[in-house]
Amino acid sequence: MIRIENYDLSAHNTFRMKVKCALYIEYSSVEELQNLDYTSLPQPVMHIGGGSNLLFTGDFPGTVLHSGVKYIKYVDMGLDEVLMTVGSGVVFDDFVAETCKNGLWGAENLSLIPGEVGASAVQNIGAYGVEVKDIIAGVVCLDTKDWSKTVFKTPELGYGYRDSMFKHNKGRYIVTSVLFRLTRKYSPKLEYGNIKAALEGSDLSALTPQHLRDAIIRIRREKLPDPDEIGSAGSFFKNPVMPRAQYEAIAKTEGVEPPHFDLPDGEVKVPAAWMIDRLGFRGATKGGAKVYDKQPLVIVNASGDAAPADIISLENEIIAGVKERFGVTLSPEVEHI
Ligand SMILES: Cc1cc2nc3c(=O)[nH]c(=O)nc-3n(C[C@H](O)[C@H](O)[C@H](O)COP(=O)(O)OP(=O)(O)OC[C@H]3O[C@@H](n4cnc5c(N)ncnc54)[C@H](O)[C@@H]3O)c2cc1C
Repeated sequence: MIRIENYDLSAHNTFRMKVKCALYIEYSSVEELQNLDYTSLPQPVMHIGGGSNLLFTGDFPGTVLHSGVKYIKYVDMGLDEVLMTVGSGVVFDDFVAETCKNGLWGAENLSLIPGEVGASAVQNIGAYGVEVKDIIAGVVCLDTKDWSKTVFKTPELGYGYRDSMFKHNKGRYIVTSVLFRLTRKYSPKLEYGNIKAALEGSDLSALTPQHLRDAIIRIRREKLPDPDEIGSAGSFFKNPVMPRAQYEAIAKTEGVEPPHFDLPDGEVKVPAAWMIDRLGFRGATKGGAKVYDKQPLVIVNASGDAAPADIISLENEIIAGVKERFGVTLSPEVEHI
């Protein structure tokens, strides 16, 4: 177990905020976690993964836990279906790479999403028409109420768009491993975004998960910042959902039909990036923070030493601008700590 006081968290958050926590603990087994004397730790206690959806707004006064539980095991190799159990500390994209290397379908559209396996199940990460809930068969947790091991089946996890029951029971459950269900059956998901265009010229009947993974990686690299090169937490805001009448009013005032997705309940989801762009925020800066030129939904630590206040000030300016022009209140997707 690694246990360090007054620990610098810059390497543990992809925004690269230079903040510290009172105590950092990285455990390497579930038993180590279970044996922690939780109440004696500096409070509050929070669990992080790769810190790729977090904005630390200052030093953290308590304890930061991190999983070093790293294994990928095949538990059932059926003719079609394959079940894998993966430790919470495994880098999510390492798991995706493993499935693709072995010709297993299901995870390839989620290639290159930063972060770790434990958080993927909390966040219900998604990309290119797939959400991780689609391949999760179960999640193993420790319940911090009594340190018992609890296994949840997918329907019990209340999954929705970037949402799960874990988010509504903050801090109660620590994910220790995730059971994934993959398939050998040819089942590429090509409908979303520009996947088909990226595969132009390929023989689709001979497509493998690895081909699709490579295409997704190419697409993502073109428009998203690489966390190893430039700090960010990916999409900063959620895409707002509004009543159809409000969407139509915006279209009328703007004199153009905004890009949108019609939801089954009649409401309309409009890309926040479109609004931000329309207001001219692309490339806007505040101190060391900047709205990313290639994707205005992303705020980056452009200078490398942006302070949390720079990011928050840009965030607030965007929220106020969007509210004034479109009457819509954007909410951040990035969790502020
Ligand atoms: C460049 C970039 C691109 C991105 N693209 C996407 C994308 O396409 N789709 C998408 O969905 N997301 C995307 N994200 C967001 C991010 O990758 C995901 O939210 C990811 O799941 C966060 O994982 P993490 O391990 O970094 O978790 P963290 O950010 O460290 O934590 C996220 C939450 O999970 C909790 N948590 C972490 N580990 C555990 C655990 N073991 N048990 C219980 N709770 C835990 C934390 O307390 C926190 O509430 C992107 C981020 C970046 C920087």
